Amino acid sequence: MPFSYSQLNTYSTCPKQFEFANVKKIPRQISAGESFGSSVHNTLSKWGKLEAEKGKKKEEKDQLTMFEEPEEEAVPLTIDLLLDLWHQSFIVQGYSSKVDADSARTKGEVLMQKFYEWWEKETREVIAIEKGFSIAVDIDTIKGRFDRIERTAGKLIVIDYKTGGMRTQEEVDEDLQLSIYALACQDLFGEPCDELVLFFLSEEGITEVVTKRTPKQLSKAGDVIGSLSEQIDDEKFTATPSESACRRCPYRSICENSAV
Ligand code: SF4
Repeated sequence: MPFSYSQLNTYSTCPKQFEFANVKKIPRQISAGESFGSSVHNTLSKWGKLEAEKGKKKEEKDQLTMFEEPEEEAVPLTIDLLLDLWHQSFIVQGYSSKVDADSARTKGEVLMQKFYEWWEKETREVIAIEKGFSIAVDIDTIKGRFDRIERTAGKLIVIDYKTGGMRTQEEVDEDLQLSIYALACQDLFGEPCDELVLFFLSEEGITEVVTKRTPKQLSKAGDVIGSLSEQIDDEKFTATPSESACRRCPYRSICENSAV
C-alpha cells in the first residue's frame, strides 16, 4: 500500500491515531492551525505558479525574433497581487468564531508582507510548485508533494512551508519528511538537491532552517520507512499516549487511551 509522509508521521506519533484516520477513516474537524496552514500553502502555490509563468514568458520573449508578434505580458508580481491571492485563498472553516477568523486573516497579511520581502531579495528560478511524486523505497511506495523547488545562485533548493512551531537544527537534520524530499528530488531531477529548507512563516519574519542529506542518511531513512510500513501492514495499532500527542489529537474525545 502506498503511504504519504503525513501517514507515516501520524503512525510515528501514535499508531492508534493512524488507525482512526486511515483504517477506520473516522471523519474529523479541521483545526484552526490546519486551516491557516492550508490558506498560506494555497496562496503561495498560486503565487509560485505565477512566478513560473512569468519565467516562461520571459524565456519565450528572449527567443522571439524581431519579425514575430510580441507575446502577452505576464502579470506583474507585486505585494498587492500577493495580498489579493491571500484574501482569495483564505479558508474560513476551522475557527471557533468570526473574530478568530478575522484575526487569522490579518495575521496572514503580515506573513505575506514578510514573504514578499524575502522573495524580492534575490532572483529565483522556480523549477516546480506543488509537484506530486511517487517513489519506490525498498518494497514500499511513498507519495508526496513538493511545496516549492527553485534554483537560486546555482543551487537546487527544496522548500517546505511551515506555519506551525519552530524546529531546532538538530530536529531538521533528522526530519524524515525532508529525507523523503531528498530521495524524490534525486528521482525526479536526476541530481541531488543542494539544500532542503524548512521555511517558517511568522509575524516576526521568515526563518529558513537549512539542511542536506548524505547517502548514508538516506539509506537510514529508507530503513525507517520500511520499518514503519511493515508495522502498518502487520496492523500494529497499539496506542502510545502522551500529553503532547493527545492534546493535539483530533480523536481524543473518542479515544479510551487518551492521556488528556
Ligand atoms: S488520543 Fe492519544 S492515545 Fe488516543 S489516538 Fe490520539 S494520540 Fe493516540
